[in-house]
Amino acid sequence: MYETVIGLEIHAQLATKSKIFSSASTAYGAEPNTQACAVDLGLPGVLPVLNQEVVRMAAKLGLAIGAEVAQRSVFARKNYFYPDLPKGYQISQYELPIVKKGQLQIEIDGEEKTIAITRAHLEEDAGKSDHEAFQGVSGIDLNRAGTPLLEIVSEPDLRSPKEAIAYMKKLHTLVRYLDICDGNMQEGSFRCDANISIRPLGQEELGTRTELKNLNSFRFVERALNIEIERQIDVIESGGKVVQETRLYDADKNETRPMRSKEDANDYRYFPDPDLLPVVIEPAFLDEIKTALPELPDDKKQRFMQQYGLSLYDASTLIGSRELADYFEETLKASGGEAKLCANWVIGDLTGLLNKHNLEIGDSKISATQLAGMLRRLSDKTITGKIAKTVFEAMWKGEGDADSIIEKRGLKPITDSGAIEQLIDEIIAKNPKQVADYRAGKDKLFGFFVGQVMKASKGKANPAQVNELLKTKLNSN
Ligand code: ADP
Ligand code: MG
Repeated sequence: MYETVIGLEIHAQLATKSKIFSSASTAYGAEPNTQACAVDLGLPGVLPVLNQEVVRMAAKLGLAIGAEVAQRSVFARKNYFYPDLPKGYQISQYELPIVKKGQLQIEIDGEEKTIAITRAHLEEDAGKSDHEAFQGVSGIDLNRAGTPLLEIVSEPDLRSPKEAIAYMKKLHTLVRYLDICDGNMQEGSFRCDANISIRPLGQEELGTRTELKNLNSFRFVERALNIEIERQIDVIESGGKVVQETRLYDADKNETRPMRSKEDANDYRYFPDPDLLPVVIEPAFLDEIKTALPELPDDKKQRFMQQYGLSLYDASTLIGSRELADYFEETLKASGGEAKLCANWVIGDLTGLLNKHNLEIGDSKISATQLAGMLRRLSDKTITGKIAKTVFEAMWKGEGDADSIIEKRGLKPITDSGAIEQLIDEIIAKNPKQVADYRAGKDKLFGFFVGQVMKASKGKANPAQVNELLKTKLNSN
């Protein structure tokens, strides 16, 4: 038996308008090389100037993960050669990162687990090589060069691909709550390098790790990790040794393959960048950020559990995005009803439909007010759960709010006991054998009658009323 050990390095692109050391735009999708100025191109004679906004954003994250925000941090040069890196070095932070020693809570199988975060440091992104657009030659697009990144490094605390995904999702939620990253994974705004090793269960010492590069969807991370675990087990079981290296995940072939042998920090010849001053953060600057922090996901989660009595699962699902949490609270308030009922509809039917249509909560075809209107009719028993589904679908299709749909489609419940009694009489007449059996003591058949009457009423009869009337009729002979 082996235990899996995973540590993630997540690159969150900071949502600034301009780059980390220049005033060029960070907007995505422009024509190649139209958003790279002399600083991003690494031309001689220019100097980088730090964008203060990135310091604020990094500090925000630091405070949100209960980390130490360094009073003094230092930019360093990480030297390597690559065509998309014009300066021949990347400006990053090395010995003195801006954020140290934080943690993040994840929820896994109904339990909470704390994952330690080693550090988060600021750095610039490199450009992009394009090996496909031109015949026989590679193109370089430097629009992305100099885009601000916050690299968030976890301790090797994760024990399964599932935990890794939970951690990644939680961090994804957090950076969006903080408004420091748009979280757009398709555009590469939030990407992950996953370090993974295995060790015999019970062994203290960590196994040799491999690093899987640039995984840009939750699904790929999970698949890549699972495939890599299998590969490492195969290597060890067949008497070999896992080699420390960087590997690439090929989604088409669903395999990982070696990219390069793992470089050592020494290979990068790190040294403090002489063009940049150390970053010094004043306590007042931090205080200001602290006061302006929004309610954080974990605080919201705790509040949802306490204030509304929701389970850990419901609360963690609802706080998945600020918009979803707000939608839930707005609906609940407007419905004036039960939190659990509201949570069920938001997490279940609504999220289901949104996923099916690939929509975000902000694009929901049912507004919080509309859903609240339906929940009110459920709570006051105007409609049954079954009819609610019909009403819900009609609202999604744009047929208006619950009350008018109930009216228009004739979904009003049958409350008239005379009408229900008539249905019961018909059912009794149609099923003489069951009636005889029931009267002879086969109590279990009662459910059968309830079902038949409900069906005959097309779900519009009130089950409690049906129960009562049925009992009287069946027992009165
Ligand atoms: P580097 O800077 O060379 O990428 P670090 O030591 O900073 O290496 O570690 C990078 C990531 O790898 C961290 O997230 C860390 O938790 C993780 N890690 C380190 N050792 C292991 C291991 N044996 N197995 C799995 N993950 C590991
Ligand atoms: Mg690394």
